[in-house]
Amino acid sequence: MGFVYPDGIISTAGHVDAGKTSVVYALSGVWVARHSEEVKKAMTIKLGYTQIGIYDCPGSEYPLSDGLLDKGRCPDGSEPKLLRKISIVDVPGHEVLIATMVSGAAAVDAALMVIDATMPVPQPQTAEHFAVLDIIGVKNMVVAQNKIDLVPKEKAVENYNQIRKFLSGTWAQNSPVVPVSALHRVNIDVLASYVAKITPKREPDLSKPARMAVLRSFNVNPPGTPADKLRGGVLGGTLLQGAIKLGDEVEIRPGLKIDRPGAKSPYQPLLTKVVGIEYGGEKAEEARPGGLVGLMTTLDPALAKADALAGSVVGKPGTLPPVWTSLELEVRELPRMGEKAEPMKPNEVVLVSIGAATVFGVVQSVKKDTAVIALRKAVSAEQGAKAVITRQIRNRWIVSNYGVLKG
Ligand code: GDP
Ligand code: MG
Repeated sequence: MGFVYPDGIISTAGHVDAGKTSVVYALSGVWVARHSEEVKKAMTIKLGYTQIGIYDCPGSEYPLSDGLLDKGRCPDGSEPKLLRKISIVDVPGHEVLIATMVSGAAAVDAALMVIDATMPVPQPQTAEHFAVLDIIGVKNMVVAQNKIDLVPKEKAVENYNQIRKFLSGTWAQNSPVVPVSALHRVNIDVLASYVAKITPKREPDLSKPARMAVLRSFNVNPPGTPADKLRGGVLGGTLLQGAIKLGDEVEIRPGLKIDRPGAKSPYQPLLTKVVGIEYGGEKAEEARPGGLVGLMTTLDPALAKADALAGSVVGKPGTLPPVWTSLELEVRELPRMGEKAEPMKPNEVVLVSIGAATVFGVVQSVKKDTAVIALRKAVSAEQGAKAVITRQIRNRWIVSNYGVLKG
């Protein structure tokens, strides 16, 4: 069988220590191996992507995910039938998770909300993530009521009722709630079947122009490689829409900063050719949304070294969004549970996340709901894109606002 593309993307959400990463391990069963491999390739980024296969097995009441197979076989020893592949995004850290979701660094179709059955509902970060799902318009959710191994039955029922109460009257009031123990692999098959059920299948929409968010970039040549053996720069990232095929000519924006007196923009887009496509070591003919992909290019490898191109956007030449060195944003508050922050002030240094880019900026002006932020590094983004603003508040970096790009 050839390479099977994931046809949906689900993101974990939920309070710190609820067991998000543990639930992903239980579903995928491959975390340790995949993770060490990713570390080796320096592919570990804020966004942890895991692909899970969902399989039909004879005699199993529910479809099984990779983590439930026995060395790749069904419980009865037969060959599992792959129904679909789903990408799970697991972002470590609460602030980064919110920034990732709102800035659109990952194109998410559904949410896997993990709730700790030993704690009252909702925990503050659970409520914040739930509110963020509303902002980004994700309307498909399954709840994993985790750690049921730690509570007696009555407590679990009480906690379940709290979850139902929390969701009641919201868009998610009919979301399935599945009691599980990630640690002891209890009910993970039921969870897997709901993950498959609530994650909408996306058809690869080839009518939309390709848009890849570059999260990492590398020079893969060991020092001292002779010039004729040099491999071009490698871009690691994720497709937000469309597809990129082997052999495609692509453009990278913002590109290189150059000092050309009189030039309209100090940035010059880069043009290159895609000569290899890889998903976690598997070669593919085409890059599509869902999962982390590596593009081998004919770029001068020095341009790609040490994440120099992280935060860029890749697509067909002439189709990419404009390049901005300053953003005019219509600023809105993010629903945060903590005390209110003071409004932004001119000269304040903030972090702005928009698409795959996270760059420092300096607030130029704040009037009513409009803030102008000068960026240290340019970004390529569409008008109307959401930018997340992270501010230093009482010595901590807090995701405090988001803004819609006006111009
Ligand atoms: P995250 O911060 O939401 O990603 O949470 P982790 O997956 O890192 O888990 C936090 C802690 O809870 C770890 O010590 C896990 O071993 C523990 N944990 C996760 N799931 C379970 C479970 O089902 N039962 C028990 N007893 N502990 C769990
Ligand atoms: Mg985690």
